[in-house]
Amino acid sequence: MLKSKKAVVTGSTSGIGLAIARQLARNGADIVINGFGDADEIERTRAAIEAEFGVRAVYLNADLTRGDDTRRFIEEAVKALGGIDILVNNAGIQHTALIEDFPVDRWDAIIALNLSAVFHGTAAALPHMKKQRWGRIINIASAHGQVASEQKSAYVAAKHGVMGLTKVTALETAGQGVTCNAICPGWVRTALVERQIEALAQKNGSDIETAARELLAEKQPSLEFVTPDQLGQAAVFLCSDAASQMTGAHITMDGGWTAR
Ligand code: NAD
Repeated sequence: MLKSKKAVVTGSTSGIGLAIARQLARNGADIVINGFGDADEIERTRAAIEAEFGVRAVYLNADLTRGDDTRRFIEEAVKALGGIDILVNNAGIQHTALIEDFPVDRWDAIIALNLSAVFHGTAAALPHMKKQRWGRIINIASAHGQVASEQKSAYVAAKHGVMGLTKVTALETAGQGVTCNAICPGWVRTALVERQIEALAQKNGSDIETAARELLAEKQPSLEFVTPDQLGQAAVFLCSDAASQMTGAHITMDGGWTAR
């Protein structure tokens, strides 16, 4: 379905981004992966995508907390793949603290990566997409793009910002073959959440699996984690012809979190 499409997924060396990259590749797209991690492991991940799905997979290292580097990264990706059809703005980080205790450097880093990198990446990708009159921008927001939780000021502010930016991008590209949508996951058991489970286990003096159940119980009525692959399949849908009139919208996959 996505054969000959060229996709860039930020923060795709692990977690949700990696699952999205693999689902896009499974459907035939060439892929640029990006993110931090052990060099050998990243190379194994990249090579596995090529071997399993018969597509091109390129790894490009870039710290997307810096705007200039983010724009340069997109141009490098365009050169490496020979174009860009799909941009998944996925890279994200978390930090939890009360507003009055929130370290300023954590606030700045979260806003830079979770919000500003979406702006810079989109700004660099759009001229290519508008010119070819086809493009898909998918922003990985969160249940926290719709509702708040205490101790997550920077993350909630950034994700609400991403929801607004998604709508502006949709309006500025409407009727030009380009769509922009968000995906709003609830709890997904990745490294980002594992750290929060560990913190809860420590706070409550419980074991990790008990803490995982407590974490779910607090927010997610299904009491089950969303899987990275389910989010990958949602991203594939947003790239399909069936979704060509879906823009400025969001897909919520949160086990009922935002329904109450
Ligand atoms: P993760 O920690 O598993 O993956 C984050 C990815 O971003 C990694 O590849 C990491 O190397 C990369 N990254 C981190 N800092 C970077 C930087 N400065 N420049 C470039 N890449 C960087 O986390 P995840 O849970 O897979 O999160 C992916 C996205 O999904 C994030 O935007 C997150 O906010 C969002 N999300 C996650 C959950 C969840 O429950 N896990 C829920 C809702 C939304």
